[in-house]
Amino acid sequence: MEPIGKSMKNVTNRPDFKKRLSSLKEEVLANPDIQAFISANSSKIDEAVIEISLNKLYEYTQQSIECRDCPSLGECKNLLQGYHPELVLQGKTIDLQYDQCPTKVVSDQRKKHESLIKSLYIPKDVLAAQFQDIEFDDHSRVKVFGLIKEFMEAADQKKRQKGIYLHGAFGVGKTYIMGAIANELAHKNIPSMLVYLPEFMRELKNSIQDSTLDEKMDAVKKVKVLMLDDIGAESMSSWTRDEILGVLLQYRMTENLPTFFTSNFDLKELEHHLSYTQRGEEEKVKAARIIERMKYLATPVKLEGANRRQ
Ligand code: ADP
Ligand code: MG
Repeated sequence: MEPIGKSMKNVTNRPDFKKRLSSLKEEVLANPDIQAFISANSSKIDEAVIEISLNKLYEYTQQSIECRDCPSLGECKNLLQGYHPELVLQGKTIDLQYDQCPTKVVSDQRKKHESLIKSLYIPKDVLAAQFQDIEFDDHSRVKVFGLIKEFMEAADQKKRQKGIYLHGAFGVGKTYIMGAIANELAHKNIPSMLVYLPEFMRELKNSIQDSTLDEKMDAVKKVKVLMLDDIGAESMSSWTRDEILGVLLQYRMTENLPTFFTSNFDLKELEHHLSYTQRGEEEKVKAARIIERMKYLATPVKLEGANRRQ
């Protein structure tokens, strides 16, 4: 019997094998990420390193990086669903290190938020909301769209961003627009939380006893982009107004965290609503303070249109 080393040599010396190897090498070296990696490490990577790493480099070309080729997490084409490779140099070989891909990071974050905040409350149709389906035809909608566009562009440039206080009649599509923003942000891998405020306030009141209050408040306080849906529809007590809403807004102001609101009230009407607590006491100064914070965080704009609820 021939020694194994010798028989391998025979195989690798065969012309068809050599041809396949060189076309594989060509394919691998055509990959722009690989090109960039090689030129960034040009002092350490020579022909020998590339040849010994061909297997790994080929594996890299077959994976979707940054979720570019995967429409969703469920349709992830990678070897390890939800993970994408990064090229790393280890001594004299190039290896792959698999990390969570952006879609998985956002999806895990959303799952965590959902399990923590029941009042996250996103109706199915809102979850599916897409900008392409929204008609920004009349004057007020053009303005809303302009503000959203500005916001999204600033998100790309990582500048400080002002949210929107979207007010208007019941059923004109305010919550739906927030859903579309949340979806658009998710595409950009920016986590956001859409919180139905009346439910959230109820939940917080019920959490005082079970000590999850701080944890819930923290998640909402710190999320990258927060949307408080239907402010003004809750029954406000001085505790929820000052200790919850006031503290929440103060934190987001000092940390420069983008915050959106929707309401059936304009700011003037909301101020009036916030002036009266459940006990009917009038507390104008405290209400004015909340409104000031909201104005700092968000640009008010009225959404007009027909009631879309049947
Ligand atoms: P609001 O929050 O202003 O009270 P919603 O956003 O809840 O109104 O919208 C009312 C209903 O109309 C919802 O069922 C929503 O799914 C639907 N809707 C709103 N805007 C659109 C839209 N652009 N395209 C399709 N359906 C919409
Ligand atoms: Mg709504």
